Amino acid sequence: MTQSQIDSLRAQRLEPALHVVDGRRVPASDGGTMPVVSPIDGRQLTTCARSTRADADAAIAAARRAFDDGRWSGLAPAARRKVLLKWADLIEARALEIAVLGVRENGTEIGMALKAEPLSAAATLRYYAEAIDKLSGEIAPTDPAFLGLVHREPVGVVGAIVPWNFPLMIGAWKIAPALAAGCTMVLKPAETACLTLLRLAELGLEAGLPPGVFNVVTGEGTVVGAAIAESMQVDVLAFTGSGATGRRLVEAAARSNLKRVYLELGGKSPNIVFADAPDLDEAAKVAAHAIFRNSGQVCIAGSRILVERSIHKGFVEKLAAHAAAIKVGDPLDLATQAGAVNSERQLHRNLAFVAEARAAGRQVIGGARILQETGGYYMSPAIVADAEPGDRVFREEVFGPVVTVTPFDTEAEAVALANATDYGLAAAVWTANLSRAHRMVRAIRAGLVHVNTYGGSDLTVPLGGVGQSGNGHDKSLHAFDKFLNLKTAWVKL
Ligand code: NAD
Repeated sequence: MTQSQIDSLRAQRLEPALHVVDGRRVPASDGGTMPVVSPIDGRQLTTCARSTRADADAAIAAARRAFDDGRWSGLAPAARRKVLLKWADLIEARALEIAVLGVRENGTEIGMALKAEPLSAAATLRYYAEAIDKLSGEIAPTDPAFLGLVHREPVGVVGAIVPWNFPLMIGAWKIAPALAAGCTMVLKPAETACLTLLRLAELGLEAGLPPGVFNVVTGEGTVVGAAIAESMQVDVLAFTGSGATGRRLVEAAARSNLKRVYLELGGKSPNIVFADAPDLDEAAKVAAHAIFRNSGQVCIAGSRILVERSIHKGFVEKLAAHAAAIKVGDPLDLATQAGAVNSERQLHRNLAFVAEARAAGRQVIGGARILQETGGYYMSPAIVADAEPGDRVFREEVFGPVVTVTPFDTEAEAVALANATDYGLAAAVWTANLSRAHRMVRAIRAGLVHVNTYGGSDLTVPLGGVGQSGNGHDKSLHAFDKFLNLKTAWVKL
């Protein structure tokens, strides 16, 4: 990847984006469109289709037909594998083009976007494609007078609703296991990140996905998302996004066909640093990266640093130095380390948290709007150095480059502060004491606890939350559980 390759891709004019439904690229039935605004400069890039409820229903009907007639679910798993592997190859071959497209729309810095978006989506497709013909059913150890067989069957039509921070990575975590399992899908991207998922769907058709197997419908959450959630034809809903939306989806499932709803929601993840951490410089550097990468728009972001009181002051200084060294700016410049905030609305929300902490008398380092002359949505990393557990910024997910630091005196107090949240997505503990590390892993309520590191867990391990961070798991072979039903055959011999 060179700067000149990136610059020529960013100069490309974009045609209005269309839905991909039933194997075809189609506009909204009433011709409606939504502007696609780039957070890099606040200018309109293109438009995407603003789907109506009828459009969403048509996509669901296409997915239903494609599932029921067995054009995909009826194939040998090895045949599905072949198509998915080809799809991965096509994505990889166009990785930079796709990454630049995504950056223009959502503002993630290009180095991270390339790795985390197209390349990660391709790797995810390969992982589940390669796994699907190695999953067998079971013969139960039953009374020999009977034969108990446990079949695994695809659940049917999956509705997927995804957010804007990593649309391809998060999308692929649902698309790959669901399609490998034999399900069909209707996916709704976020309003501010739809272009790359549409591109992915086009490449899927090129790879040989039969029509109707993977449909992408763009539009508003309250219209398209709601239609998917309320549909009687959707068997499973796989969602990543905010808790507020997650609640609505559960209600919609209850009002309609009791579809299973898997939620991957937000977090307020504690990053706990003991004075005996093996390397405090490394801990501070990783802590800065854990919250400020992608401008804090990461579900597992380490947004609450809890630090042993004896090292609090020195740790804040180190953290501030690492934060100040992060180059925030144009996400398509190879020198940039953190790009734009996704939308103007999100930028103002982030800044409001910072202003509130300052008004409450907290020590705040950074946290200003910058590069306003570009028209884009940029802010410097913000550290609230002495946050109290009662502060809103300590309790609520910001989903921006804002971190709190709070001192503690004992291990028990660290656990109590870590668990003083409704969320339970991720956490980290930094200590050289092995016994303490394992005690902390057990004591912290979260789906993912890092020890002496933060982030970077690969596809082989599950990602899922407890409490109000959700249920079910993306990644790892466990992700298949969401998309496969168990069926028992009980045979008298
Ligand atoms: P959001 O809930 O506002 O939107 C997510 C998706 O839901 C979008 O596609 C949106 O259009 C759709 N939607 C909105 N209202 C809807 C409705 N009434 N019915 C159906 N669909 C609707 O969240 P967001 O702002 O796009 O994403 C940020 C959130 O996602 C944060 O809370 C973040 O922590 C979370 N997130 C979680 C994970 C994880 O793996 N746990 C990963 C990334 C992001």
